[in-house]
Amino acid sequence: MRGATERNERGPTAQIVPEAGAPSNARVGVFLFTSGGAPASIEERFWSRVRFSDGCWLWEGSRFPGGYGRFSPRHRDEVGAHRFSYSLAHGTIPPKMCIMHFCENRHCVKPSHLWMGTYSDRTRAAIAKGRFPGRRKTTRKEAA
Ligand SMILES: [Zn+2]
Repeated sequence: MRGATERNERGPTAQIVPEAGAPSNARVGVFLFTSGGAPASIEERFWSRVRFSDGCWLWEGSRFPGGYGRFSPRHRDEVGAHRFSYSLAHGTIPPKMCIMHFCENRHCVKPSHLWMGTYSDRTRAAIAKGRFPGRRKTTRKEAA
């Protein structure tokens, strides 16, 4: 755990506290600096791969091909790092729910930058931002 801390250039002074607006049950930061040789918990392993800043908290572990962080809480189990972070802060994510980024940064795992919605929420958000996933480059009108 200590090695991971040094790799992230994070010291005891770089204490992470939930920012304003973060859920009150967000447990971020609390367990980051527990050392003493105990095996790292899943949460410690997770946060040791995050680079904290005032802005986004960037995942520095491996990534899925789509660019989202990839975290393996246990053997042969992989989840999106942003989803894992969200579930730490808010609890289990119901089936079929998407976790999306306010900040549009797929590497970001900061709970307050994440929101949960349905697939149609996601589609609506993508359209609102002008980047509908898939083939929406030219409408029929534009193409005509
Ligand atoms: Zn962010």
